[in-house]
Order: sequence, then structure tokens, then C-alpha cells
Amino acid sequence: MAQHDTDERISDEFIDDTKDCAEREQAHRERGTARPITVVGHPMLHRECKDVTIFDDELARLIDDMFASQRAAEGVGLAANQIGVDLKVFVYDCNDDEGVRHVGVVCNPVLEELPAEARVLDDNNEGCLSVPTAYAELPRPDYAVVRGQDAEGRPIAVRGTGYFARCLQHETDHLYGRLYIDRLSKRERKNALKMMAEGTPRYETVPNEG
Ligand SMILES: [Zn+2]
Repeated sequence: MAQHDTDERISDEFIDDTKDCAEREQAHRERGTARPITVVGHPMLHRECKDVTIFDDELARLIDDMFASQRAAEGVGLAANQIGVDLKVFVYDCNDDEGVRHVGVVCNPVLEELPAEARVLDDNNEGCLSVPTAYAELPRPDYAVVRGQDAEGRPIAVRGTGYFARCLQHETDHLYGRLYIDRLSKRERKNALKMMAEGTPRYETVPNEG
């Protein structure tokens, strides 16, 4: 993570999450343990998560487990409720529109509203580890800014373009109980659920009750 002091005045700067990506991602996942992924229908995926208020070793361990889980499932982003933890935290390991890799963590993310005229919609495919084997086209702004806190509670802002912008929006949505299929038309949503029903995930998932 980029160096930051606690000065409030620099909280508006964007973090540089492109440095030492391989080393940082590896260190997290080697300390952590991969956990099974919750899937659509699991109640925790469909409600807002709790704010992170304590930035301690337990949170650091959760983040390590999230990186390990993300790697095991070959994801580019993972929200805490996707491993059954009711806290507003997501991690990411994702390339932007220029192929630059970004690795990081955001607690208590809030997506910045973009002025309508600044929005350029990109309608690439989107998928989700919690809707295994399915994907669908979903228009989203190709630029996103998320503000929140790092693992130590310091204010941060993360900026993304292209697929990474999509990732930032997708993961923030998760922590407010929203899946990308909730943004699809009824018919497209049904198609995605059908793809999921017919496919077999390549990673361990949490079976839903009932
Ligand atoms: Zn997802």
C-alpha cells in the first residue's frame, strides 16, 4: 500500500495501488487460508454489511483470508460477505483498461457519484464468484472513485478505469447487499441463474440451506 500519514489534508489523494502488487498479494494470501464462497441465495449476500469500526489484527487476518480465497477462486475482487463475514471490506487484484495491475483493500467503501455527463458506459461482460459459471453484459461507467479506509483505518480514495472501475463498483455493491444480476433485466437475470444451475464451479462454495 502506498505510504500515507494521517494528515486529513492528503485524504483526498488517490492511493497508488500499483506498486509491488505481486509481493503484496502473495504475502497476504500466504498468511491467509482460503474459505468457501457464498452463492446467490445466501442471506448475507442480500443485505447491507456492518461497518468496520475496529482496525485490529483480526481484521488483518480476515483480509489475508480474503486474498487467499480470491486467489483460490481465481477472482479479481472479493467482498467479505462472499466468505460469510458481515463486514464492509473488499479486496481486489485487477487490471485496468491499460493492463496495469491494482492490488488493495477498502473498508467502508462509498462510491463517488459521477456527474451524468462524465459517464461513459462500457458494456463488457461481468461475472461474480457468488454466481458461479454465469456472466452477462452489464453497462457500467468506465471510471470509478471509491472512498473508504485502509486496513489501519486511514482514509483512502481509490480510482479505477475500465475493468478495474467495474470491479470497484461491483465489490462496493456487494457490501450493500447487491449482486450484479440484481442490475439485469428480469430475463437476463433468469438466464444468468440458468447458467449457474447448469455449471459446476471450479472452487468450493457454501451450500445454501433449503
Ligand atoms: Zn461478485
